[in-house]
Amino acid sequence: MNDHRARKRFGQNFLTDPNIIRKIIDAIRPLAGETMVEIGPGLAAMTAPLVERLGHLHVVEIDRDLIARLRERFTAEQLTIHEGDALRFDFNRLMDAGQSLRVVGNLPYNISTPLLFHLAEFADRVADMTFMLQKEVVMRMVAEPDTPDYGRLSVMLQYRFRMGRLFDVPPGAFNPAPKVTSSIVRMIPWPAEKLTAIDEGVLARVVTAAFGQRRKTLRNTLRDHLSLEDFAALDIDPGLRGERLSVADFVRIANHMVARPGECR
Ligand code: SAM
Repeated sequence: MNDHRARKRFGQNFLTDPNIIRKIIDAIRPLAGETMVEIGPGLAAMTAPLVERLGHLHVVEIDRDLIARLRERFTAEQLTIHEGDALRFDFNRLMDAGQSLRVVGNLPYNISTPLLFHLAEFADRVADMTFMLQKEVVMRMVAEPDTPDYGRLSVMLQYRFRMGRLFDVPPGAFNPAPKVTSSIVRMIPWPAEKLTAIDEGVLARVVTAAFGQRRKTLRNTLRDHLSLEDFAALDIDPGLRGERLSVADFVRIANHMVARPGECR
């Protein structure tokens, strides 16, 4: 295929199965003229068909050897290469006036959670995101309350995005083959009026506390945030565990805390 040696530290597993690549590109449905960025283009398995359909694509890649190959293969009109760490990349730079951004990628699994949180910061100007991730992470992202996979990642991402798992991809579709199955997930930001948390920092703190010690009840995990009177006012049983609360419950708790008399944030 080529002589690039996959770098583990950059989470490199390259897609090689043409049927899977086609299926992913079809799921993304790139349309000519759209503004799209691919995170981690690697050896261009997805990049080439995306460029073909879009005309132009932005990519963010950290590996200099791969960047050199991309420069040889694509013209500057086809591909704008942003060299560096996607975790630090300011995606606002790519937002064309009046056009929202589409984000795609077969993400490096070793940084998937921080990358999802980083990307969530730009959600208000993003049209959609379609990613390949470890199946286990996708199951946590889309998990419903009262299931073992439901946790901080589920609540914080479901607060901001409508999400769906599209299909699974087996290890044999990559070179080198990862140890785990992967899944494709689509994330569509909710419109601003759906984001009802008065202070998202408070929401994040409450959710982190509630899932910090999964086996403990809310009375314990939220001790520093809510009194028994607060639980009563919210009509939430302090004997429950965090996994029983819906995203809307967490928003209610955070908003109650912000609105409490004498509260200083
Ligand atoms: N898109 C290619 C494919 O599907 O075959 C490669 C996917 S590979 C799983 C992940 C890619 O992300 C690699 O090209 C890797 O070098 C790149 N990468 C890893 N960490 C990165 C980071 N922090 N910022 C940007 N790119 C990164």
